[in-house]
Amino acid sequence: MCRLRDGMTLPAIGLGTYPLDDDEAERVVAGALEAGYRLIDTAMTYGNETGVGRAIAHSGIAREEIFVTTKLPGRDHGYEQALASFEGSRRRLGLDFVDLYLIHWPLPRLNQYVKCWQALIRLHEESVTRSIGVSNFTVEHIQRLESQTGVLPSVNQIEMHPALPQRELRAFHETKGIRTQSWRPLGQGGTLLADPEVVGIAARHDVTPAQAVLRWQTQLGSVPIPKSADPRRQRENLDIFGFELTDDELSRISARSPHRIGGDPDDHEEF
Ligand code: NAD
Repeated sequence: MCRLRDGMTLPAIGLGTYPLDDDEAERVVAGALEAGYRLIDTAMTYGNETGVGRAIAHSGIAREEIFVTTKLPGRDHGYEQALASFEGSRRRLGLDFVDLYLIHWPLPRLNQYVKCWQALIRLHEESVTRSIGVSNFTVEHIQRLESQTGVLPSVNQIEMHPALPQRELRAFHETKGIRTQSWRPLGQGGTLLADPEVVGIAARHDVTPAQAVLRWQTQLGSVPIPKSADPRRQRENLDIFGFELTDDELSRISARSPHRIGGDPDDHEEF
């Protein structure tokens, strides 16, 4: 478990749910909860909050034991819009409260993210979300939230993997007590997991390349949310705490030319 600046705790690893639809999400999240996952990441734009909510409702696991994250979409930027959007997410999830609510993207051209943040502060004060945070925010975006509202996000969920280790942003998070969460933590699988350096380090610890990369994430202090619909891989991704990478291995895993797979937070627009 990781402690957040607001006093709440966050599981050290979670399950991503994009691009599962409602029915797939219900089945996959049900299996993941059974396998031991306690952090589930969804978003309004994934279109699967209803399925995630159904899996939680039927799991038989106490609500307090499950940590649910969802996100405010670009289409609902604005103060009143954000409040209404949150209610929609909460209704689809079928929950009394959400554990973590994030602004999905800053969308600086719209210039509404401070208003959105003010809405999230209100939702937090009303205890309908236990923690609030952001996703894909840069140092400048977070500094603006702080200077205009005095409230820092508890989490910044960012693209992070060995080809995008986010050193500067993580160092900034550390100075502010913001928890880093990694989306696309396996670099979407594929070539990264076949990289000879990663394969060699994994073999030395008798783990899979995916486990080595996820351990790299947690040892750097980030909370990864790998997506897998396969029960075997889900269990594999959860089983990463029985070995320790050396400092040299940590740096060798990310010694590669930087490469962003997703959008650039300064100009990416997603509604
Ligand atoms: P990921 O790095 O989690 O890669 C997922 C892919 O890796 C899957 O296709 C899967 O087949 C493969 N995989 C998973 N486990 C494996 C294993 N053990 N061995 C081999 N291959 C394996 O990338 P992602 O799905 O893009 O990101 C994870 C989650 O992050 C998403 O599901 C979503 O919840 C979240 N996300 C957030 C944002 C954001 O803007 N905040 C953006 C994208 C994704």
